[in-house]
Amino acid sequence: MSDIANVATGATVVALTNVHKSFGPLKVLDGVTFDVARGDVLCIIGRSGSGKSTALRCIDRFETIDSGEIVVCGRKVHDPALDLRALRQDVGIVFQSYNLFPHLTIEENITLAPTCVKGTSKAEAREQARAALAQVGLSDKIQHYPEQLSGGQQQRAAIARSLAMRPKVMLFDEVTSALDPELTGEVLKVIEGLAADGMTMVMVTHEMGFARSIADRVVFMHRGKVHEHGTAAVLTTPTTPELAQFLGTGL
Ligand code: ADP
Ligand code: MG
Repeated sequence: MSDIANVATGATVVALTNVHKSFGPLKVLDGVTFDVARGDVLCIIGRSGSGKSTALRCIDRFETIDSGEIVVCGRKVHDPALDLRALRQDVGIVFQSYNLFPHLTIEENITLAPTCVKGTSKAEAREQARAALAQVGLSDKIQHYPEQLSGGQQQRAAIARSLAMRPKVMLFDEVTSALDPELTGEVLKVIEGLAADGMTMVMVTHEMGFARSIADRVVFMHRGKVHEHGTAAVLTTPTTPELAQFLGTGL
C-alpha cells in the first residue's frame, strides 16, 4: 500500500503536549510529552502500571485527559468539536486480545467497519479485506471463523481489520503479550512489514530485541512521566538508572 503514510497535515502525525490524567486520586499521566513523525515507529516501554496503555488510549480518545493537548493528523483529539469518526478512521488500534467477533468469518470481521462506519460498498470492502489479509499473510483464511485460527493468526487478522480502514497511524498495545512465544514472531514480522511500507506506528511492547531493531524513537515511561526519550540507542546505553534497571543492564 503506498497511501498509508500519506498524511496531508505535515510531518508530525501524533503529538502529546504536557498531558495530565488521573483516575480519581491516582495520577497516571504526569505531564507526558512526545511526538511521532510521519513514517516513524515509536516504541513505548516501561513497567506495568507506568501509564503506557493510558497514553495510547488517550491518542484514540478512548480516554479523556485532564489537561494538556493531543494532536493527531492535525486534529485536536480532546476538542469537544472533534469529529470522532474521522479520528477513528485515521487511527488504527490493536490490543493484546484480538477482539474479533467469534460469530463472524474473518472476511465479515474485516468488512464490518468499512461498510457500517465508512459507507464503503460491500464489493469494495471485500476487495480491501483481501488486500489487507494478503498484507498479513492470511489470504487463505478469509472464510474461516476466528476459533479456527491460531492466536498468532487471530492477531494478524485483527491487524488486517485495522489496515482495511486505511489508517494513517497504527497503535499497538502489547499485541504479542497474550501469545505463546512461538507465535509472537509471525505477528512481529507483520509489524516489521508495515514499518518497511512506511506506516506511522506507536507501539507499546515488552519485546526489547524487537524494539531495538524497529524503533526510530523510544519512550521510557516511569510513574506517569516520560523518563527517557531517544533513539533505539537508549535501549543499549540508557542514561538513567531507572531505565538501566528496567532493562536489567545495571548502571
Ligand atoms: P501500563 O499500560 O503501563 O501497564 P496503564 O496505563 O494500564 O499502565 O495503567 C496505569 C495505572 O492506571 C495503573 O495503576 C492502572 O491500575 C490505572 N488504571 C488504568 N486504567 C484505569 C481505569 N479505567 N480506572 C482506574 N485506574 C486505572
Ligand atoms: Mg498496558
